Amino acid sequence: MIKIMDKKDCSGCKACYNICPRNCIEMKIDGEGFWYPKVEVASCVGCGLCESVCPELNIYKNSSSSSRPTCIAAWNVDKATRENSSSGGVFTSIAEWILDNDGVVFGAAYDKKRNVMHTEVREIEDLSELRGSKYVQSDINTTYNSAKKYLDKGKKVLYTGTPCQIAGLYNFLQKEYAELYTCDIVCYGVPSPIVFQKYKKNLEQEYNSNISGITFRNKKNGWKSYSVAIQFENGSEYSKTFINDAYMKGFLRNYYLRPSCYKCSYAKLPRISDITLGDFWGVASKYPELYDDDGTSLLLINTAKGKSMIDACKNNIEHHECDLEVAIAGNPSIISSVKEPKKRQRFFEDLHNRDFNYIIKKYMSPPTWIERKIIFGVRVLRFMKKRILKLLKK
Ligand SMILES: Cc1cc2nc3c(=O)[nH]c(=O)nc-3n(C[C@H](O)[C@H](O)[C@H](O)COP(=O)(O)OP(=O)(O)OC[C@H]3O[C@@H](n4cnc5c(N)ncnc54)[C@H](O)[C@@H]3O)c2cc1C
Repeated sequence: MIKIMDKKDCSGCKACYNICPRNCIEMKIDGEGFWYPKVEVASCVGCGLCESVCPELNIYKNSSSSSRPTCIAAWNVDKATRENSSSGGVFTSIAEWILDNDGVVFGAAYDKKRNVMHTEVREIEDLSELRGSKYVQSDINTTYNSAKKYLDKGKKVLYTGTPCQIAGLYNFLQKEYAELYTCDIVCYGVPSPIVFQKYKKNLEQEYNSNISGITFRNKKNGWKSYSVAIQFENGSEYSKTFINDAYMKGFLRNYYLRPSCYKCSYAKLPRISDITLGDFWGVASKYPELYDDDGTSLLLINTAKGKSMIDACKNNIEHHECDLEVAIAGNPSIISSVKEPKKRQRFFEDLHNRDFNYIIKKYMSPPTWIERKIIFGVRVLRFMKKRILKLLKK
């Protein structure tokens, strides 16, 4: 029977919850807002399935995945899709290929209350629900069971998520499926749903209206200086570049990531999925010809199945092979976990005892020297872009 002794040993993937034949595992939310399994002992028959599928107790190794994946800078050729995606919009291309082939796509979406949940999409018109990064832990709910039902019927399934969520799926399925395609993201770590709730509530009070839409990666100021854009039912709008938004600041200072994220078992090569998607942050300095501030995806092709998937949608993706080391240098989360800040525990104590505005002032301002460097870099890039455009016009 599964029992979590150290919270760092549970990524909250819910594989145990999905597999339990007696439905006697409840996912309980702790004071930090993360869910952990709790077994109702009286109903448990001691079958041990919950422990056997846990991707932290049993680290999943994808034997088809290469420790030197093909590294590609890529973007969706459709301008609108690229604009509405966090990076280069490669996710949409592969998802469309799956849906065109009568398949099903699983990924993270907002529910009515703007909580983030994994859900299935079967129609192209609904794909926008999965598009875009939602910077909070997504609840897998019972989607492993749903994916298995489709796979057992022989349908194509694309399952997308964080590396630990994909590991949970593989362990849950316990066998290989020819029609299963997996795509993980380069993951910095997943923020706490309770902090996200408090952030939303604080803004709703400030704007005196309910939130009707959230985009974490609005590109109106470009891909590199992206903004958090929030719409309210009363027509008001909030928009701040990530460097000035309180929630993004706390996220990127690592205050409220899930404990397991500080020692992620899957931030490494070989990667867990058929393909890995992220932002190609180092692209501008090494490959300026592949950079235009509309968003460049980092695409790692890890398996032969991943290659077949990308080959199938190559007409919709602009792609250029690059050096893996350049990608890793710009994006260390490919192979390593972020550090836990010393003040993390104090942060959560304050979160429960203090007003959210106090938290913002204490933990999320002023910009750190790294943030100041990024702000400076973004300004220099914008200035250079303007100068080049001016010169080209002459
Ligand atoms: C919490 C989090 C941390 C990230 N950290 C990094 C990082 O350090 N470096 C980096 O290069 N990229 C990171 N990314 C990935 C990046 O933001 C883009 O999601 C990725 O590059 C895909 O972009 P796209 O343009 O192809 O597609 P998009 O349409 O922008 O992305 C959609 C895809 O993201 C998935 N997704 C969105 N939110 C979540 C979520 N909460 N949980 C699981 N899956 C989700 C969807 O299921 C779908 O597969 C992170 C994403 C998230 C959600």
